[in-house]
Amino acid sequence: MGAMLSIDEARAAVLGEVRALGDEEVAIADALGRVLAEDVIAAADVPGFANSAMDGFAVRSGPAGRRLRIAGESRAGAPAATTLQEGEAIRISTGAMLPAGADAVLQIELVTEADGAIVLGEDVQPGRNVRNAGEDIRGGANVLRTGTALRAAELGAAVNAGRAAVRVARRPRVAILATGDELVDPGAPLGPGQIHDSNAPMLTALARQAGADASAARIADEREATEAAIATALGEADLLVLSGGVSVGPHDHVKPALEANHVEEVFWRVALRPGKPTWFGVRRSDGTLVLGLPGNPVSAYVTFTLFARHALAALQGADSRARMRTARLAEPIERHRDRDECVRVRIDEHGAATPTGPQGSHVLSSLLGADGLAVIPRGEGRLEAGAVVDVYE
Ligand code: AMP
Ligand code: MG
Repeated sequence: MGAMLSIDEARAAVLGEVRALGDEEVAIADALGRVLAEDVIAAADVPGFANSAMDGFAVRSGPAGRRLRIAGESRAGAPAATTLQEGEAIRISTGAMLPAGADAVLQIELVTEADGAIVLGEDVQPGRNVRNAGEDIRGGANVLRTGTALRAAELGAAVNAGRAAVRVARRPRVAILATGDELVDPGAPLGPGQIHDSNAPMLTALARQAGADASAARIADEREATEAAIATALGEADLLVLSGGVSVGPHDHVKPALEANHVEEVFWRVALRPGKPTWFGVRRSDGTLVLGLPGNPVSAYVTFTLFARHALAALQGADSRARMRTARLAEPIERHRDRDECVRVRIDEHGAATPTGPQGSHVLSSLLGADGLAVIPRGEGRLEAGAVVDVYE
């Protein structure tokens, strides 16, 4: 076996095997979290017409002190019926169409109103308080690009661009298989030596957060059961994620069962803590990706975040590095000699990162309240306070 891959090398190896999924059209109401498979071009100017930025009076620009007769009203959705004439003002609401003949709006606070007329309290420049057509988006402009993840603002912008539906990447299908004779269902009473299967729900949630359709099953530490469950899952998934059983103990059947299912190994082991015993491979016949994650809960979470989440983004055509940032260490951290370490950190309002507490790979509570995983590069000695580190959210 050659030298262990670094995090970046391992992620590059994963991304190198990703083949983009197909796409489908979905209604805007169902598109949250999906990734655009097309550019969204504005059908028309937004706003589509000049309108008022204030509640007040539409007028012709000119000096203060003029007395203008109130000749009508323009409300949001109900434009004035008349054209504004010399010596007139039209009452107007925010967002209401600027009447023909008017070129400015004076807000209500700056006029005095009496006997069906107003007196202007200030000079009015042309265009004052007017939002012009196309100020937000020009018709024909490229509003959202292929590969954009749709969040709340993007959905609003797509609607403004004239859309009721968008083309998005198909959701990746993720099958999760949790291995371990010691595992029982959440909430079940624990017999001697048993633990609750926390990885299956946690990994399912991580996959869903990454936009996938995910389902989980559990398998015993038996060779035949493992092989059969993998065969079924491979037929249903774009990405198969295994938890546990990937090491080299007498009850670890995952690697031989994958080999028997013609899944080709791409790498085994990463210079990473926690998460060294991570396995990645591909079934060449259909491109199905397979990640074998260590069973320790923190290791499973970390390796999913570093590798599976990026694969799921890339399968959907999104930039997989969108959720990475940097932070400064608030305190020195001892380095591991030959593995990069993912330390769970809280990040304060100044961008300073502090470890959440004990960092053992079995201490799932170290993830509670964490803002991200700070990568402490391997090496001698310690990384000093103030050092800038990469953080995976
Ligand atoms: P393994 O990778 O199978 O050697 O498991 C490593 C450690 O992770 C052991 O302490 C297991 O009990 C624990 N573990 C494995 N699978 C799970 C799971 N699904 N939920 C919680 N802990 C697990
Ligand atoms: Mg196990």
